[in-house]
Amino acid sequence: MALLDGERRAELVGSLGAVRARIANACIAAGRDARAVTLIAVTKTHPARDVATLATLGVLDIGESRDQEASAKVAEVAELRRTGVGERSEAELRWHFVGQLQSRKARSVATYAHAVHSVDRPELVEPLAAGVTRAEREGLDVFIQVSLDGDPARGGVLGDDVLALADAVAARSQLRLRGVMAVAPMDADPRAAFADLAGVSARLRAAHPQAVAISAGMSADLEEAIAHGSTHVRVGSALLGRRTQVFG
Ligand SMILES: *Cc1c(COP(=O)(O)O)cnc(C)c1O
Repeated sequence: MALLDGERRAELVGSLGAVRARIANACIAAGRDARAVTLIAVTKTHPARDVATLATLGVLDIGESRDQEASAKVAEVAELRRTGVGERSEAELRWHFVGQLQSRKARSVATYAHAVHSVDRPELVEPLAAGVTRAEREGLDVFIQVSLDGDPARGGVLGDDVLALADAVAARSQLRLRGVMAVAPMDADPRAAFADLAGVSARLRAAHPQAVAISAGMSADLEEAIAHGSTHVRVGSALLGRRTQVFG
């Protein structure tokens, strides 16, 4: 099967156009500049070929949520792009780790990720920093994942504990504290959740003025997230189609 399988490519062109239009319209409605919102294509369960195709369409921010799948895909995509895809696509990809992170996987993630959006406990700080050092990389962007509903099963640090965790991240020269991340609670109004997150972000910025980023909004709620200041939307199914595996 050719990398640029025409039918799949046409599908991705269509869905990307639709998602970009949603982002643009949400920015207009919020009086924001669309360039201030980064689209991250969350490609979990989808093949490396899709990532290489998206890269030729100008989507260079790629999200993954499991280390095992991500590390294999990073290598596969690099090989696909190196061996030619019928189109030039040399711009470097930025891999974003967005899933719940086990401490024992943190070192591995730090070897290929540009950013980790799911730092939600102090135990992750040391292995992430060590992974950056060992891989001789320049640094790793870190988002503090905030729990908006207090459900520990879904990951995220409680609002009151954000500052202490942010201090621990900021104390590491290998880690760049970028801001906050959250997933809206299920079965609740995402607007209230994203308004809460904006409040947490404001408190974080009072202590760490550079930590301006807000990673929020997925296929179902990116408009609500952009209305509340999201700078990074993480979009999977609206871009790539339904996932065949169930992911948490
Ligand atoms: C899967 C996932 C997404 C994308 O979800 P969609 O609803 O498919 O857009 C975004 N963020 C995280 C943390 C995810 O795990």
